[in-house]
Amino acid sequence: MSWTEAKDYFKKNDIALLPVGSNEQHGPQNPLGTDHLIAKAVAEETAKRAGVLCLQVIPFGVSSHHKQFWGTIFISPKTFKSYVKEVCLSLNYYGVRKIVVVNGHGGNRCALMEMARELREKGVFVSIFQWWSVVNKLLPNLFELEERGHAAAEETSVNLALHPQIVGMNRAVDEEPRKHSVQTEGMTLPLDTVDYTSSGVFGKSTTASAEKGKKIFEATVNELVKHVNLLKETKIEDLISKSKV
Ligand SMILES: [Zn+2]
Repeated sequence: MSWTEAKDYFKKNDIALLPVGSNEQHGPQNPLGTDHLIAKAVAEETAKRAGVLCLQVIPFGVSSHHKQFWGTIFISPKTFKSYVKEVCLSLNYYGVRKIVVVNGHGGNRCALMEMARELREKGVFVSIFQWWSVVNKLLPNLFELEERGHAAAEETSVNLALHPQIVGMNRAVDEEPRKHSVQTEGMTLPLDTVDYTSSGVFGKSTTASAEKGKKIFEATVNELVKHVNLLKETKIEDLISKSKV
């Protein structure tokens, strides 16, 4: 878009999609860019079908828990939150009040949620979409639990569907994550990926298939298009924070 095209869009629309991801290890078979590449593809296809603007993907995210694996880029939650927030505020300057963040990386979630709450107070509504959290609801029997972890068959399948030329299935491995010696029920521990797995894969990845990945992509995009259309129809007054009761 040129700035004149942007002006035309923002004069008529108050909604935009923003894909965000990470650059981090995804096992020996998947590209480091997995999370931002998938977020970008889901967001761009949704934007095309729903007739809304999709911004450039933000490729780096909150990934320090993967840093022992080479090539991982790790941004602090604070910096990530500020950066994404300022992108959203720039959109708001041109009248955008509804933003759908298409998030490709679980580690970004807390920072994004904090940001969304702060922006809602300022009259900007940000919803956050994560493709993997809807897959077992939309396609319940597609994968076993051990195929749904980080860099396992589910995620690898989406890569195979979208960009098979950068997936090396001959390097795919299956690895059952280790349990830490102090882990008991109900306990959240600040561990790194390397504490659980040596390959970076959580579970089974060798069963990945492009065909399954296409099903996930299609179901995910359909669901996101539904959300974007609902947002378009909803008045901003019904989305932002209510005043006192
Ligand atoms: Zn991932």
